[in-house]
Amino acid sequence: MLNYVSTRDDSVKVSSAEAVLNGLAPDGGLYVPDNLEEIRLDYKEVIAKDYRGMAKAVFGKFFPDYGEDAISAIVERSYENKFSSEEITPLVKVGDGNVLELYHGPTCAFKDVALSALPNLMTVARDMTGFEDEILILTATSGDTGSAALHGFSDVPGTRIIVFYPEGGVSDTQRLQMVTQTGLNTAATAVRGNFDDAQSGVKRLFTEIPRPCKGVSLSSANSINIGRLVPQVVYYFAAYKALVESGRIAVGDKVNFTVPTGNFGDIMAGYFAMKMGLPVGRLICASNKNDVLTEFLETGHYNRKRTFYKTSSPSMDILVSSNLERLLYLVCGLERNKGFMKALAEDGEYSVSEEELAEIRKIFVGICCDEEKGAAVIRNVFDDNGYLMDTHTAVAWAAYEEFEKSEEEGRGQANVVLSTASPYKFTRAVLGYLGAEIPESDEECMKLLSEKTGAAVPPQLAGIFAKEIRHKDVIECDEMKQYVIDKASAGEK
Ligand SMILES: *Cc1c(COP(=O)(O)O)cnc(C)c1O
Repeated sequence: MLNYVSTRDDSVKVSSAEAVLNGLAPDGGLYVPDNLEEIRLDYKEVIAKDYRGMAKAVFGKFFPDYGEDAISAIVERSYENKFSSEEITPLVKVGDGNVLELYHGPTCAFKDVALSALPNLMTVARDMTGFEDEILILTATSGDTGSAALHGFSDVPGTRIIVFYPEGGVSDTQRLQMVTQTGLNTAATAVRGNFDDAQSGVKRLFTEIPRPCKGVSLSSANSINIGRLVPQVVYYFAAYKALVESGRIAVGDKVNFTVPTGNFGDIMAGYFAMKMGLPVGRLICASNKNDVLTEFLETGHYNRKRTFYKTSSPSMDILVSSNLERLLYLVCGLERNKGFMKALAEDGEYSVSEEELAEIRKIFVGICCDEEKGAAVIRNVFDDNGYLMDTHTAVAWAAYEEFEKSEEEGRGQANVVLSTASPYKFTRAVLGYLGAEIPESDEECMKLLSEKTGAAVPPQLAGIFAKEIRHKDVIECDEMKQYVIDKASAGEK
């Protein structure tokens, strides 16, 4: 049966349930399947199913120890009445391109697809392993993960969640999505500092707070958890199915995917889809002005020592893409990966060999796009096709266009651009790019964008301005530890 090993120590094997519960391996590595042959399946059989059927097939391969009945129940619970589209992730034809809309979940970003499933995967894993502690999820967010995680874990028995966000560092819409979240087990707490302060604060808590603490065990909802990656594999199959059904490709044709990338989680899910047997051509890794991955995929040199830019696609503003470690392990092996990670920690950089880069580049290609280009894409695609996209999707669209103009292997094949957020999550930037005067409040911005474009405001977002504010705590960074211990104690029975 498939087990998981750490990317930094493959002598210890754990079951998929343990990997989901632990999140990160104790040695700081990420969990990967110990045998990729075991995840292979017949993609033709898979794409004959509906979304939930595809999810059950994919989950079944990655989480074999759960058993078929449990997987089936998890998938049904995860996607029942949560998404405003029957297809969960609809594929839309835009000009000559294809956009896979991943944002029809409860909080209007693609993270909902995985965070609808993760709480169910975790609670079933806890019951399977006889683990009795309550699970306390700690998450730092720059915006999107926070609301998706709060929504996913809200009132899930046996779990609690605290999301830390930088005070003043998220948009009004994102803040309201978090602080109005219901659920007796949820907390959204502002930290006086920036996102990096909040994130390093959370990482420190995992080492400083003894586990379990007062009958509570800590875990993570970030994309380092394999339970967040696997649900994302499913929509690569869904996109392929939609292309076949609409006659845009024949079964067996290779398809390229262009992915707006930050932590390398979403695109890594595409790599796993390919390893399962889906005919994936190239995976185009789209970056914004923070182009560390573009440089890596061009030169083989990863260098985090560079200026950090705040852009209008903030969920991609990242210099250390955690999930790349999974790819490095799978392509270069354990010892090489350990060397890279050591060099990254000590010197902030590492290089893969020419042969290793060539192997990676058979599938991956990196393309970056600056703010001006992203803005032009939003304007042009709207003018030409009447289609409105968000700032992250625009970065991917720009990369898709550039790829098609390049000499790269695989150009001209069907290409799917992954759309990771609703334009209404980033209303201010989108409005500005369309040349509008920007009103003061986010509520006014939403109204104006809808008037200008005719695209309806998603009801999930339209309602937040009238909701009761439930989470008001603001703390200093050095108060995080005591805050979590107090919250843990409050749950003691
Ligand atoms: C998180 C996020 C991304 C980046 O996804 P990764 O899996 O971290 O590469 C892109 N777009 C949006 C809107 C996001 O929220």
